[in-house]
Amino acid sequence: EPVTPPLKRTFRLAVTNLKGGVAKTTTAVNVAWGLVDAGLSCLIVDLDMQANATSDLGFDITEVRENGLNMASVLRNQCEIDGILLQYGETDLWVAPSSKALTDAERMLSNEIGGEKRLAQKLKAVEGRFDVIIFDCGPNLNLLTINALSLADYLIIPVQTEYLAAHGTLSLLDTVAQVRDNYNPGLTILPILPTMYTAKNSQEQATLGELNRLVSDLVPIFEPVPRATVFSKASAAGHPALRASARSKAVGTYRDYVKLILKHIRAAQAAQGKAG
Ligand code: ADP
Ligand code: MG
Repeated sequence: EPVTPPLKRTFRLAVTNLKGGVAKTTTAVNVAWGLVDAGLSCLIVDLDMQANATSDLGFDITEVRENGLNMASVLRNQCEIDGILLQYGETDLWVAPSSKALTDAERMLSNEIGGEKRLAQKLKAVEGRFDVIIFDCGPNLNLLTINALSLADYLIIPVQTEYLAAHGTLSLLDTVAQVRDNYNPGLTILPILPTMYTAKNSQEQATLGELNRLVSDLVPIFEPVPRATVFSKASAAGHPALRASARSKAVGTYRDYVKLILKHIRAAQAAQGKAG
């Protein structure tokens, strides 16, 4: 059963983990492509100063830094978000690019009253234009991450299946609960996505077992994304792996995860239908 775009409202997803290198950006970009492939329009807001979401879609981050058309300028009120959007090919996937200047913009925002609401204000310029907005967060709980968690309908947490991952995840869920209580009671945490999983590695098996044992009472654990070279190849090529590599098992896991998100969107659509 297909979704029927355009949706009546924009669905906002945040991809967060307080660690770097756990496949946040890979998840953001591939989920975005999966949703676009299903017929939805999607905007990725790159909130990491490393700008990996921007470069993973093939955009030149040096140019984006030098021309000032990036999220740092938007958050500093130097321009509006609709003036910086980059279109990925001829598709319905767009990115609001990031740059290194985001570090200073974040610091400035932290000193302003209402800084935790700046992103919401800035997104008004694209209200109604996208079916889905995905926030690709940096590896920390800075004010931009708080902005994203405050705005999100759904939270995606990728977790690398490495030693002590379950404990890190529990502490992250604790932090998320605090943000939810203070800023966004409507936030739904989607099943945790274990990433870079090597099934043959006994340490990683143990980690996955621990995630299921210690965390799954709080949030379900999705099927793990296997470790695969398609992702680094895809980012070097500037395309989502989901688009480039049809047959990889790892890509298939992302496709299944996208199906889960579409299920949520359809359920919300049905509820909207009933509400008129
Ligand atoms: P984060 O955004 O959390 O810092 P990235 O998405 O940038 O992490 O991923 C870090 C690195 O790991 C990238 O080089 C990416 O291509 C690679 N990667 C992501 N997922 C996988 C996977 N399932 N198998 C192997 N490498 C992966
Ligand atoms: Mg990243």
